[in-house]
Amino acid sequence: MLDRTVLDPTVRPGGPALVTGANGYIASWLVKRLLERGLDVHGTVRDPRDPAKTGHLRAIARDCPGTLSLFRADLLDPDGFDRAMEGCGLVFHTASPLIVREVDDPGRDVIEPATRGTRHVLETANRTPSVRRVVLTSSIVAIYGDAVDLEEIEADRFDENHWNTTSHEGHQPYSYSKTLSEQLAWRMADAQARWDLVAVNPGLVLGPGLSRHTNAEGVLIMRDLGNGSHGFGAAQLDFAIVDVRDVAEGHLRAALMPEAAGRYVLVGETLSLIKMADVLRARFGDGFPLPRRTVSKRATVMYAPRIGITHAVAKRNVGYPLKFDNRRARTDLGLRFRPAAESVVEHFQQLLDDGLVRSR
Ligand code: NAP
Repeated sequence: MLDRTVLDPTVRPGGPALVTGANGYIASWLVKRLLERGLDVHGTVRDPRDPAKTGHLRAIARDCPGTLSLFRADLLDPDGFDRAMEGCGLVFHTASPLIVREVDDPGRDVIEPATRGTRHVLETANRTPSVRRVVLTSSIVAIYGDAVDLEEIEADRFDENHWNTTSHEGHQPYSYSKTLSEQLAWRMADAQARWDLVAVNPGLVLGPGLSRHTNAEGVLIMRDLGNGSHGFGAAQLDFAIVDVRDVAEGHLRAALMPEAAGRYVLVGETLSLIKMADVLRARFGDGFPLPRRTVSKRATVMYAPRIGITHAVAKRNVGYPLKFDNRRARTDLGLRFRPAAESVVEHFQQLLDDGLVRSR
């Protein structure tokens, strides 16, 4: 039987909370929220002494009631998480390679670290008696592979009952890595009874980051939009968007609400690429080479690599609507999602401030 008192927000979880990949775009907001609540955080990073990766976390911790300790851990090291997890009641497993474009070797660079990392973190949880709940940062890409998959299901939108059955190493390997990792996590959770698993499945995460972070997929999409990669016209692509601060809040509620269970789709709103461009033009004016029209599917498929996707991904996503049901997160976790336009605008403003996007 699970000891649920440890998860009750009024009681405070037993011991510190572990956050893997603590320096990441999402995890940084999560660490901030945990520290603000007065929770002590054990964060794992690949190099705790790299100020470019950890300086912002240490600065945040200075102003918060909770304490932060950083530990070195790599997903590929089976024993790397033991010291960091010692005494923790909660484990947030966020670390995973987020490489969607230009992957040299998908098995080696994405799938292996994601799945082996999940196994290593959960095996560590199995031998750490204090752990009561694990919150896994999964993704909507563990729910669907390509937008065209919506035509294969009975519902008119994807929800927590659906699984990605169409990605593989040669097509959407990142999506495949998230699917395999989440499935492994559920199998490992079911094989024991001390800790329970809650998965959060965010869409494309946008909104201001807490560090100068240039690799997350959301940053690349916004940067390409602002720098003219779609200047000739926007592909007919939909993005299921969620704000990074809402994702952090979703993690927190998934961890601290005793009744949280299963999977939670974290998607605020779906916006098309052209709509994102319209939102940016309305706010920032005409100084950027933002698309003003959509281009045909045929043209997008032909030029797909120029916008960072393969021909097959273009074929299976362009022109197909993407819809998600976020009711579980709204009703069971009580989340209120920010309008996607707000996240788009604030994210773009940060790219401008950081000099990653420049007006003409
Ligand atoms: P991120 O900033 O790139 O964070 C990824 C984290 O994983 C970083 O801390 C990274 O460390 C760490 N990591 C990668 N490979 C590792 C390895 N071999 N060993 C140890 N740590 C490793 O991206 P994010 O957006 O915050 O992603 C966090 C989680 O959210 C991931 O699980 C991702 O799949 C999921 N997610 C993201 C989105 C999105 O749109 N951003 C949407 C849905 C789900 P380094 O900094 O050292 O590389």
